[in-house]
Amino acid sequence: LDDAASRRDLIKAVAQEVIDHAEELTALDQAIGDGDHGVNMKRGAEAVLADIDNLAEKTLPEGLKAIGMALVMKVGGASGPLYGTFFMTLGKSLPEEPAPADTVAAFEAAFQAVMARGKSHPGQKTMLDVLAPALECLQADPSASAALCTKVAEAAEATIPMLAEKGRASFLGERSIGHMDPGARSSALIITTVCKTLG
Ligand code: ADP
Ligand code: MG
Ligand code: MG
Repeated sequence: LDDAASRRDLIKAVAQEVIDHAEELTALDQAIGDGDHGVNMKRGAEAVLADIDNLAEKTLPEGLKAIGMALVMKVGGASGPLYGTFFMTLGKSLPEEPAPADTVAAFEAAFQAVMARGKSHPGQKTMLDVLAPALECLQADPSASAALCTKVAEAAEATIPMLAEKGRASFLGERSIGHMDPGARSSALIITTVCKTLG
């Protein structure tokens, strides 16, 4: 990611993946939320794509911070500030030319920041139930991108039997059981696309 072209390719791939799955994310949110997660995420992805040349020209840390700010402003809902916090903290924590250990440390800082912002923790049927196992996987082997893809897909599936304790889905109580968490699915899509594009 040390040139603008490779940063541009990565940003484009992730934003496009989110846009391509907007209907699926919305359907998941229709089951246990207010049915806007796909629309929210797509709006954020489109804002990022509209500014892609500028974002790709920035250094990796500055680009990630700018993406985070765009997501806070454009995505809205509960997920906008949480994804915004994730990307802004990644940007603040990463050096310009990160070694694998720097990436793991930055991911951990970003994960902690999302927990603080959401007043939440893994086990409550949220995006944290994908981010936590992703962090564990990175800590075990920062270069195991295939393992990370498998892990996050399984982690999103594993939210299906969980009881929601945070966000709108928690209002449903027991009726939140039996559906995949929309934010867990969007996190898995983003992480998988990063792995596939870089791997
Ligand atoms: P809203 O619920 O405001 O409509 P979205 O539909 O865009 O926002 O996002 C919902 C997702 O946000 C959930 O599926 C969940 O993964 C995540 N989420 C909601 N509240 C929290 C929280 N407190 N901590 C972590 N993730 C959360
Ligand atoms: Mg929603
Ligand atoms: Mg909403």
